This record gives sequence, C-alpha cells and structure tokens, in this order.
Amino acid sequence: MCSRDPASNQLIDFKNNDAEAQKDCTTSGGTPIGVKDAIQTVGPRGPALLQDFVFLDEMSSFDTERIPERVAYAKGAGAFGYFECTHDISKFCAASVFDKIKKRTAIAMRFSVACGENGSADTVREQRGFAIKFYTEDGVWDLVGCNMPVYYVRDPSLFPSLIHAQKRNPQTHLRDPDMFWDFMTLRPETLHALLMYFSDRGTPDGYRHMHGYGAHTYRLVNPSGETFYCKFHFKTDQGIKNMDARRCSELMSYDPDYSIRDLYNAIKKGNYPSWSMFIQIMLNEEAKKCKFNPFDVTKVWPQKDYPLLPVGRLVLDRNPTNYFTEMEQLAFSPAHFIPGIEPSPDKMLQGRLFAYGDSQRYRLGINYMQIPVNCPYRVQVKNFQRDGSMCVTDNQDGAPNYFPNSFCGPKESSRALALQTCCPVAGDVYRYMSGDTEDNFSQVTDFWTYTLDNCGRKRLVRNISEHLSNASQFLQERAIKLFTMVHSDFGRLMTEALNTARISKF
Ligand code: NDP
Repeated sequence: MCSRDPASNQLIDFKNNDAEAQKDCTTSGGTPIGVKDAIQTVGPRGPALLQDFVFLDEMSSFDTERIPERVAYAKGAGAFGYFECTHDISKFCAASVFDKIKKRTAIAMRFSVACGENGSADTVREQRGFAIKFYTEDGVWDLVGCNMPVYYVRDPSLFPSLIHAQKRNPQTHLRDPDMFWDFMTLRPETLHALLMYFSDRGTPDGYRHMHGYGAHTYRLVNPSGETFYCKFHFKTDQGIKNMDARRCSELMSYDPDYSIRDLYNAIKKGNYPSWSMFIQIMLNEEAKKCKFNPFDVTKVWPQKDYPLLPVGRLVLDRNPTNYFTEMEQLAFSPAHFIPGIEPSPDKMLQGRLFAYGDSQRYRLGINYMQIPVNCPYRVQVKNFQRDGSMCVTDNQDGAPNYFPNSFCGPKESSRALALQTCCPVAGDVYRYMSGDTEDNFSQVTDFWTYTLDNCGRKRLVRNISEHLSNASQFLQERAIKLFTMVHSDFGRLMTEALNTARISKF
C-alpha cells in the first residue's frame, strides 16, 4: 500500500480521514432511500413503473451530468493557493494585489492542453494553457495565458479557424496534418508560435515544469493615474523540464493523465509548486516609437530592451476537493479586470474579452459568476443585474434594480473612478488586414539563431519533419519556403529531414 501514490490512495484517504459517520443516502430532494439496488416493478420480473421516482431521480441526473466541454483548452487540471507580492511595483500599478510587500491574495489556477478533448492524452505536443484567477478585495482578476510568450495569429477573426485546423477533420473525425499545415503556412504570422510549439518546450514534463506567460500586452495604471504597457511572465521555480518524443508516447499509452496526476500528487505530498512573477514595462512614448507593433501578440518584447522586473510568487497548496465543482466549472475571462489593470489595443486580447465569457455563459449559464469557485467572494456583488437561469443567490433581495435611484442602491466607486484612464484613440474604421503588413520573420529568425542551440535546432527540425511529412507534398513545399525565409539553414535542414522521412516511408 505504501508504494501507491496519493492520487491512487484518494478513496482510502477519504475513508480514513474525511468521511463523516456514514449517513443515509437520499434522493436529490433529500428523501432517505431504503433500497438502492432494485427498481420498483410489477412482480419480480417486471415491467417497471413510472412512479418509481427514486430511479427516475437518479437516472435523469445521470443522463444530464455532462456539460459542454470547453471548445479549446478542454482537458486540464488545477489547484488553489496564493499570490504573494515580493516587490514594490506601485509606481507602475495601483492594483490592490500589489499594494503591499508580503501581501497574499488567494488564487485558483488551471493548466490545460490546447486542442485535445477532455479525454485526450496529457503528453501530446500542444500549447498548454496557464490561467490564474486572483480573488482580490476589488473583485476577480483573471489572467488567462499560456506556456508560450506569443500566440499564432494577431487578428481574432482567425481564432475559430486556427482551432478548427488543429482539431478534427469534419468528415473523417481525425486530426488532419493537411488542415494543420494548410492554415499555418497560409498565415506566416504563425511561425513564431509554431517554432516554439515544435521546440523542446512543446512537450513539457507535466504542468509544474513550464513557464507561463500573459502573452498579451496589458495596460497598468498607477495611483497617480499614469499608464504603462506591460507583459506578465511566470517562471517555474521547479525548473524547466521537457519530455522527449519516446517518453511522451509511452505515457500516452499507460498514463494519459500524467500531468493531472503529477500536479495532484505533488500538492498532496506538500511539495507545493510555485512560479516567480515578473513584468516587462514599456512607456507610452516607447510604444509610439517601437520598431515593431507592441500590441502584436505574435511578438515578444526583447528582454534586453524591456528587462524582467520581479513582482511576486504564485504558490499552489490545495488540490480541488471535487474536480467538476472546482475545475470543470472554473471559468476564466480576460475581461475580468480590477482597478489598475486594463486591456491594451492588442486585437487578439480585444477578441478574447468577448469570447471567453460568451463561451462560459453557454457552458455554465448566464449566472456562472455565482458558482462558488467563480464568484468574487471577497466582495459583495452589488449591481442592477437580476434573475436569469440558475440564479442561486438572494438576488440582492429588495435593493433597487435600476440606476440612478433615490433608495440607497449601490453607488459608483470613487476609487475606480480615480483610476479610470482617458486614452486618445483616432483612426479610420476599416478591416485592416494584418497577415503581411507586420514583420513575420525577424523574431523567428532570432529564435532560430540565438535562443536555440545546435542540438535544440536539430530536435526542432526532427519534430517538425515527423509531423509535416504526413501532409500533402504541396504543403511541405510551401512550409519549406517559409522556413527558408526564417533562415537558409532551417530551410536546408528541413528539406533534408523531409527527404529522409519520405525515403523511410517506402
Ligand atoms: P532573451 O535571450 O532575453 O530571452 C530568451 C527567452 O527565451 C528566455 O525567457 C528563455 O527562457 C526562453 N527560451 C529559451 N529556450 C526556449 C525555447 N526552446 N522555447 C521558448 N523559449 C525559450 O531573448 P529575447 O527577449 O531577446 O527574445 C529572443 C527570442 O527568445 C524571441 O524571439 C523569442 O522567440 C524567445 N523568447 C523570448 C521571450 C521573451 O519574453 N522575451 C520568452 C520566451 C522566448 P528561460 O527563462 O527559461 O531562460
């Protein structure tokens, strides 16, 4: 027994530690059930009766127990803990989470795999989600990031196609290399993220050994109302650890839930994972003169120009007590800001501000923010919203449900008003196509040349060729053209690797 890990021992632990004195089982209405293993029938051989509410109650609950899985980032794991502020960044940001060194704010985090379904394997090569919910005294702040500092596309109109191209073919219901490489090679802005996806960090060893990035550019507001652009970084204190292809495949067959198990066991054993939080700051004047678009999520801000400034630490020290209640229903939206943190013009972020809440309203209902794990429990929600499906609060009793009013309804917050920024925006309304108007290559070339070493480049080429060799010939050729534009060596090595893959297939 002692060789079993905490995840395997969960039920034994429940029996030994958590279970209250065994209680009678009941229907959903709380009525005690006398016989749990026989339906009501006419005679011992049936037929059954419609009046058997005990059975109907159980069956109807079972029939409806699945909710729609998330369209993207469906398979995941998470935990609870705290954020501790370790450095004073009040000259950049007035958000309450950063207002005192050593201050702790409760957090929930969810990690996930981008395109696999809820039952898919954890160790596939995929981007990983890295989402944090801060339960602050100013309400909930969600930072919904991933394990790469960049994203594939910069215009949210392409987001559904990006995900469709990586999910299943509508006829064969199979993952389709032609769909994947067709989309990616028709949109060269995907190259930066694509190289990271196929690099060593595309297959992290569980969720504890990867960095997280807010990826988007955000705007911070300081107590004087001055604004700064910002990117968020979370560096794993466990150290980066990745898996090679062989180990990934082995785990896919014998432990497809490897990352969930790893996180659960680490926390249960008191080996609490943590991440150090940093920000990069860009001044408004710098943003105007920046030689690349600082609101383009396919770009990083070079760290030599915009150094990482330490801010604090995220620590996870509690596993969910129930996966469905606390993880499947844990709903993030980048639109959940707190005073002191605002969106930037980043187009992808602007699109996500709408999409995430919309998706959760479909999955969980219009009142999904009332679910305990989502609700801003450190403040009392006071507003003019009422009713809707599954309203499970007091619905704000008899308080006025219109504004303005003369009957002591909630008033506007002077603190939020003081931190409200006024930013000039001008321009012609148009659908500005951004595929080729931005530089799609310089940072990718830097990644190939400087970030990767020789062995890293070789592994990248091998990882891409194993996937790309399954796509049609014309897509392989189109991809090679793009790789050559990144670096001539990259194009040459990819051509050689694909030729070898072709020969070995005959
Ligand atoms: P720096 O040399 O200052 O930073 C390089 C960053 O790359 C470090 O954060 C490092 O993470 C990370 N890194 C190292 N190997 C990999 C890999 N295989 N996949 C993904 N990230 C990796 O460089 P710059 O800021 O000037 O950026 C140069 C290039 O590095 C960029 O074009 C980008 O592709 C990549 N990069 C930049 C990041 C940024 O935020 N600026 C973050 C990640 C990548 P570690 O902390 O573990 O050393």
